[in-house]
Amino acid sequence: MWPNSCEEDGLVNWKRIIQIMAGAAALVMAVSLPIAAQVPPAGAPGIPASPVSPRLVGDTSAIAKEAQGWLADLIKINTSNPPGNEQIAALYITGILAKDGIKTEILDLAPGRSAVVARLRSAALADPSKALLLVAHMDTVPIDKSKWSVDPFGAVIKDGYLYGRGAIDDKGMLAANLAAFIELKRSMARLNRDVIFLATADEETSGDASIRMLIAKDWNKFAAGFAINEGGNVFVKNGKVQYAGVQADEKVAFNIAVIARGTSGHASQPTKDNPVTHVAAAVAKIGNYTAPVHFTSIVRRYFEGLAPLEDDETGKWMRSMDAADRGEHAQRVISDASPLWNAMLRDTIAPTVLTAGVANNVIPAEARANLNVRLLPGDSIVALVNDLNKLVNDPQVKLEVQPNAGLAAPSSSLESEFYKLIAKIVPQEFGGAPALPFQSTWLTDSAQLRLHQVQALGLVPFPLAQEDLKRMHGDDERIPLAAFDKGVDLLVKIVTEFAVAH
Ligand SMILES: [Zn+2]
Repeated sequence: MWPNSCEEDGLVNWKRIIQIMAGAAALVMAVSLPIAAQVPPAGAPGIPASPVSPRLVGDTSAIAKEAQGWLADLIKINTSNPPGNEQIAALYITGILAKDGIKTEILDLAPGRSAVVARLRSAALADPSKALLLVAHMDTVPIDKSKWSVDPFGAVIKDGYLYGRGAIDDKGMLAANLAAFIELKRSMARLNRDVIFLATADEETSGDASIRMLIAKDWNKFAAGFAINEGGNVFVKNGKVQYAGVQADEKVAFNIAVIARGTSGHASQPTKDNPVTHVAAAVAKIGNYTAPVHFTSIVRRYFEGLAPLEDDETGKWMRSMDAADRGEHAQRVISDASPLWNAMLRDTIAPTVLTAGVANNVIPAEARANLNVRLLPGDSIVALVNDLNKLVNDPQVKLEVQPNAGLAAPSSSLESEFYKLIAKIVPQEFGGAPALPFQSTWLTDSAQLRLHQVQALGLVPFPLAQEDLKRMHGDDERIPLAAFDKGVDLLVKIVTEFAVAH
C-alpha cells in the first residue's frame, strides 16, 4: 500500500505538551497562529489528496507559501542560544506536522531544550543505512538589538525580504525541510527509503543539548545513511546563480592559547620580560603568517569546476595553482581575491582575544592571546604548533592547544547516489549552474553525522547573494522570499527524487 501514509514512528505526548504550553503560555501566545493553519492541507481527513505522480514534482508554490508562514512563526519564537529554549519551537513543529497526520517525538535534552523527530516509513522494517535524514537546527545566535533596523523576532516583510534572526541560519532550512517532508507525505507516494525529519537544538554552541548528545542518547531514532543539512550554499553572483556549493567536508576548529609569563612590577621601570610585549610580538608574527597551500581532493574539484564560471583572468589563475612555474603566484592571486578561497586552500590562524593587565601603571605577570585555528581535513594540530613555535622563537611564550577541539570526520563521498542526484538536479533548477563539491571553512553538525557513517551533504537551498549571506550571524538577517520559494522547490525535488520508489 502506501506505507508512508499512516505509520510514522513516535508518539506525541500531549499531556506533557499541555503542561509545557501552560508554563510557556506567554511566549506561545506571542507567536501568531501559523498562516498554515488557515490553509486546509490536501490529504487531511476529509480532503482527498490530489493524485500526484510519485515521480514528478508539480508546482511547489503553494507549499512554499505555507512554508513562508512557518518560517515567520519560527522567527517569532526566540531561540537565541544561550539559552536556546528550543522546546517551544519543537512543540510548534509538532503542531504543524500533526495537521498532516504526522506523529512526532520530542526528545528532551535539558530543561527547556528539546529536539523533535518524525519519520515517513518505507516499510515495516526499513534499512536504516538507506534512510534519508533532513536535519536543521532550531537555535540561533543572539542579537544586538540596537543594530537592527527591524524587530529581529518580528518576521517583518519588507521589499520582498523576510527579516529576522534565523531567516537564513537555520530556520529557513528548517521550514524548507518541513515543506519537503510534508509534501512527500501529502503525495502519498511509495517510498524506497525512510525519510526522517529532525530539528536539533544547541547547534550554535555545540553544547550539552546539541546533536552530539542526541546521537549519544537517541541515535536509533534517526539513524540514517544519508543526510541533508546546512553547510553549503547556492551562490548568486551578478544577479544569477553561479553554482551550488554542496558541502561534503569541513575544516576542523581548534583554539590555541598564547601565554607569556614574566615579573610583575611598577610600570615606571620597564623590564625586558614584560609578558605584554612578548605576547604582542608573538601574535604579530602569527597573525602575519600564511600556512602553505594544501589541496584536498574536494577543494581541487571545487576550483576545477569554478574556473570556467569565473572571468577569464581569475579562471586562468585557478587553473594554474598546480603549475610548477607559476603555481605559487597563482595561489597568491586566488587567495588574495577571496577570504573564502584563501581559507579553503590552507590552515588558517586568526588571533581573536587578547587578555593582559590589571592597571595602567602595573606590568602584569601574565599576558594571553587566543588563536582560532581552522585546519584542513587531515592536517595535524601538532605539526602546526611546531611550525608556530619555530616562527615565534621565544622561550618565554608558550602555545597551548585548548580542549573542546572540533571533530575530524571523514568526508562524504562525491560518488554516492545522493551526491550524484543533487549534481543532476541543481543545473535543471538553476539554468545550467552546476553543483560543485564544497569544503566549508565553518563547522556544522554534519561532522558528527559523518563520524556515524552518514553521507551528510550540506546545502542551504536558497540562492543568495553575498550581501545576504554575510548577514548570517550579523545584523538585519533576512531572506528574499523569492529565494526561499526557489529553495523549497529545489529541496522538494531532491527529497522526492531520492526517496520515492521508481
Ligand atoms: Zn546554522
